[in-house]
Amino acid sequence: ARKFLVVGNWKSNGNVLEAMEIVNFLNQAQVPSQDVVEVVVGPKYECLLPVKTSLRPDFHVAAQKGGLESGGAFNGELSVKTLGCLGIQWVILKHAEVRQLVDKTNESAGDRFVHALSVGLKVVVCVGETLEQREAGSTMEDVTAQAIAIADKVSNWDNVVLAYEPLWATGTGKVPTPAQVQEVVHELRKWIEINISTEVAYKTRIIYGGSVNGANCKEFATLPDIDGLLVGAASLTPEFVDIITSAT
Ligand code: 13P
Repeated sequence: ARKFLVVGNWKSNGNVLEAMEIVNFLNQAQVPSQDVVEVVVGPKYECLLPVKTSLRPDFHVAAQKGGLESGGAFNGELSVKTLGCLGIQWVILKHAEVRQLVDKTNESAGDRFVHALSVGLKVVVCVGETLEQREAGSTMEDVTAQAIAIADKVSNWDNVVLAYEPLWATGTGKVPTPAQVQEVVHELRKWIEINISTEVAYKTRIIYGGSVNGANCKEFATLPDIDGLLVGAASLTPEFVDIITSAT
């Protein structure tokens, strides 16, 4: 069975002191064991090391970016090699905000994605439609096109987590209905089954992200095809502890 995964994406919020406050309440939280729920938090770059060194060992740390190069003349990049040196095991790629603002094509994340996997990182890769696409009725087509760009690059799915994150629900407070989420995620799993394999469809975790909070987490967490949650704003508050326990 697929282990439930809760990822807190801190985005560019806070400073080191504020990150330590979050670490403090997480370290004290009573949560299900890591055999039942896997917890990952994604601080911004300058908080990665302080968080990694002070966070309880049963929680993991993700970077929000992982570059292609391994050093040298790449101004401002954060290489996956650096992540390895910091003991970071996870990276979040193709986040909705990155997809919208920086890295706009489906194909563009491919090389980063393969590179991150090749050095042994676990990758959360996000897919999701815009509001215009949803209103035009092309959600599945658009999500599938994004999935194809990912599937084209992956030969081993062991370290891949797909996050369904509708762009219109990300950081907006607009919450899809559980039925809307289940429909897309179910179709996505069916697509994997037909186009990749039954085994990959069975073992690959698909998580949901977009305006998840302490009050609505349970209805997403308990959807049949959902294996976890990707949480933005609410992961900065003690509400995150409720979200961690939402699947149990
Ligand atoms: P919110 O939970 O703030 O909507 O953000 C979702 C998200 O982008 C998680 O990666």
